[in-house]
Amino acid sequence: MSKPPPPRNWLKDIQSAYDTVVIGSGLAGMTSANLLAKLGHKVLLAEHHYNLGGMATWFKRKGGHIMDISLHGFPCGMIKTLRKYWSQDISDRVIQLKNVRFDNPQFSVNTSFDKIDFTHILKERFGILKEVIDEFFHTARGMNFYDDMVMTTRELFEKYFPGRTDVWRFLMEPITYANGSTLDDPAITYGIVFSNFMDKGVFTYQGGTDHLIKEMKKELLSNGVDIRTHCMVEKIYVEDKTVQGVRINGQDIACKSVLSNSNIVTTIEQLVGEEQFDPEYIKEVKNVRLNNSSCQVYMGVKKGEVIPHVGDLLFSSEADEYCTEKILSKDITSRTFSFYYPEIRPGTDRYSIVSSTNARYKDWANLSEEEYRRDKHDLEQSTLDALGKYVPDIRNKIDHVEASTPKTFKRYTLHPSGTSFGTKFEGLKVSRDLPKQINGLFHAGSVGIIMSGWLGAANYGVIVANETDKFLRQLSPSLVTA
Ligand SMILES: Cc1cc2nc3c(=O)[nH]c(=O)nc-3n(C[C@H](O)[C@H](O)[C@H](O)COP(=O)(O)OP(=O)(O)OC[C@H]3O[C@@H](n4cnc5c(N)ncnc54)[C@H](O)[C@@H]3O)c2cc1C
Repeated sequence: MSKPPPPRNWLKDIQSAYDTVVIGSGLAGMTSANLLAKLGHKVLLAEHHYNLGGMATWFKRKGGHIMDISLHGFPCGMIKTLRKYWSQDISDRVIQLKNVRFDNPQFSVNTSFDKIDFTHILKERFGILKEVIDEFFHTARGMNFYDDMVMTTRELFEKYFPGRTDVWRFLMEPITYANGSTLDDPAITYGIVFSNFMDKGVFTYQGGTDHLIKEMKKELLSNGVDIRTHCMVEKIYVEDKTVQGVRINGQDIACKSVLSNSNIVTTIEQLVGEEQFDPEYIKEVKNVRLNNSSCQVYMGVKKGEVIPHVGDLLFSSEADEYCTEKILSKDITSRTFSFYYPEIRPGTDRYSIVSSTNARYKDWANLSEEEYRRDKHDLEQSTLDALGKYVPDIRNKIDHVEASTPKTFKRYTLHPSGTSFGTKFEGLKVSRDLPKQINGLFHAGSVGIIMSGWLGAANYGVIVANETDKFLRQLSPSLVTA
């Protein structure tokens, strides 16, 4: 019998020291690595998975199926972020999704999901006075990071639309899907994200996630980032409150700074260790609540089959009213369907449909293998039943169906509880305060609801890369600005 080949060394030819090690290649990690390299720093990007992208990812299945995980929609701000921090070509591929649809017992509405159309619908369909709508938009738009955080989204809605649960649902349901926020989160987390979408509508990337990440990888390489996949960062070494290096796949590598795109709580508790931080700060860390997770059902349409245009995004629900508990419940009746028509991947004639639901890790984590398989199967079947209302005969049109759960997201991204959108609001302060605790240690990635989603994560990557750059320049004042 021939011997199995020796395991591949994913750290082959690694350098002994870097200016920055970026842990994780989510959109925040990749964007910060790219910017830091462009600014002239020696950057190592270490990713435990075989693909770059984090939750901005995709997978392929037999029969020519490509499934996108988190490419459902982002605000138009992504166009500028991609142009400024990636490339004009990447930015030029962003296109608008013009047909967003709601269908629930309270209303059925089609919208382009922008301020003009929302104003029209709120006035004509829901009978809200124009002055109230304008004032609501003005308040939401005016919210910023430094605002008083006391008001919750529920209170905001109560103020402008008292008792109008149909209006609350229209305004809230898509944002709950977009970032996991609820009526009881600070209104600022709603106001900022809602206003970002209302600016011009919902957008997507033509070419699919696989194309985007391939293009980003090219950019990273051309800017000199040392990219290593299959590389698990196991430890961040700290001495005298200062970053010294990291351990990756058992090997020590020196660095002046670390920018972690790993979950903020994991970074502090596992990668560094609580003993390195002030006890007061650790108390804040202990109070950070993780955001919820997701389930998805991926449906691959048979080659040659056609799906009529039933909408780009469909918020479908059988629940009487908007209710966070029901949205998170395992007996789900509210789903967002994303329809991927051939235009999303020009040159192909393929369709796929992805159903996303918010979910709780604990509902899936402790099942036996058999229960887990059974519940996933039930989720697939109930999703097909629900989709049949919009695409009759859906079961005959597809030749692939599979589901993912919070456990799947945990496995691939390492986020505790498979959190899809990082942490609740308090996580943002903990992330921002990290460099005050340890010199050279930074965090960028989904936190605080605002800094999550494709746009939030990428923009947070830019903010933190600039802070890391400043830190490195203080260490080496002779560095030439790129
Ligand atoms: C089902 C679903 C649907 C979504 N839909 C949308 C959408 O339509 N629009 C939108 O804007 N957003 C959406 N999101 C959210 C969005 O995808 C995320 O907020 C964003 O991609 C997160 O980026 P991030 O930079 O925070 O990092 P992540 O994507 O979380 O990536 C972190 C990376 O770090 C790596 N890592 C962690 N620890 C280590 C370690 N120790 N060593 C090495 N690598 C490590 C992980 O493997 C991962 O690659 C969705 C999310 C989910 C789950």
